[in-house]
Amino acid sequence: MATYPGSVLTIDLDAIAANWQSLDARIGDAECGAVVKANGYGLGQDEVSKALVGVGCRTFFVATLDEGIRLRGTIGPEHRIYVFNSLHGRETAVDFDAHKLSPVLNTREDIEFWSGYAQNGGRSNTVIEIDTGMNRLGLSPPEAEKIAEDAGLLAPLSLDFVMSHLACADEAADPMNEKQRQLFDKLISLFPDVPASLANSGGIFLGPGYHHDIARPGAALYGISEATGASEPMQQVVGLKAKILQIRIVDSESGVGYGASRRVPKGARLATVGVGYADGFLRSLGNSGHGYAAGIKVPVAGRISMDLTTFDVSDVPENRLLPGDHIDLICPEYSVDDIARDAGTIGYEILTSLGSRYTRVYEGGAA
Ligand SMILES: *Cc1c(COP(=O)(O)O)cnc(C)c1O
Repeated sequence: MATYPGSVLTIDLDAIAANWQSLDARIGDAECGAVVKANGYGLGQDEVSKALVGVGCRTFFVATLDEGIRLRGTIGPEHRIYVFNSLHGRETAVDFDAHKLSPVLNTREDIEFWSGYAQNGGRSNTVIEIDTGMNRLGLSPPEAEKIAEDAGLLAPLSLDFVMSHLACADEAADPMNEKQRQLFDKLISLFPDVPASLANSGGIFLGPGYHHDIARPGAALYGISEATGASEPMQQVVGLKAKILQIRIVDSESGVGYGASRRVPKGARLATVGVGYADGFLRSLGNSGHGYAAGIKVPVAGRISMDLTTFDVSDVPENRLLPGDHIDLICPEYSVDDIARDAGTIGYEILTSLGSRYTRVYEGGAA
């Protein structure tokens, strides 16, 4: 975290809480969990998870054991934590046990191991993941069928739920959604009385048939509306202001930045801010991204440098922008989804790339 204020990243914890509440309301009687992997999608696992506990979230998902151990320290012993990426080698079982973490088991080998571990008095809580078409993690449907019939293997386990993951949930019209749902419903019927979980953010918006017992939203909590395929946007969570280091008026037609890839005419006004690709302001935004200066849309001029970006601020009245002022890089007029589109990527990558050199300011939350 920066010691001297330069560029400021604002994270609105009340907006995250409100997004969780609206998702929770949308799924009715199903339980709404929260995915806080990758440091809460780059926004701070500790702060995000505390805010979510504050509004009643009781079930959390992370990707790795390290994330789970840290989360257990933050939220205390009573809430459920699941680790998507399963055991990281058998020797980690004791760590799952000590921190009351539950692995999402993806292979027969891991299920056999965890069953044996439970039988010998170790932790038994777990989730089994079935791959219903994404070809990423989880048991194949035939493997799942075999395991469902194996009473001896399942008996020592406390199977909290069975889950699968949707490949195309952000595209409501994609027929893959319905195909995965039907296969999932068929497979979970082999595990009677075991709860089920299918929906991520997008899945929640596909309708009640996708809600099952527990939903696992991530992106929508953090204001990534593209993830939902829904017309009504989620509340924006992130704001980013970059400090202007220098403003210049060019005295003849000339190029800007590395490679001189953008030409500007005589008299153009350029403002350079102290944010670059090393801060997660992706290099693909060169000559394609925008900012807002004094409320006016200004284009990125030239390539993004490691620590610097130059904007063409010719359209902003001279007296309204001075060195030391800020240019908004993410703001209500230019959302995480907008910047992702200009960068040729998705909001998930914008958020998880946000750098460590910003002054991070948390607004709202239980504090
Ligand atoms: C990351 C992840 C989620 C959350 O997905 P979003 O699209 O961010 O809502 C849910 N389930 C699994 C298995 C994941 O890996």
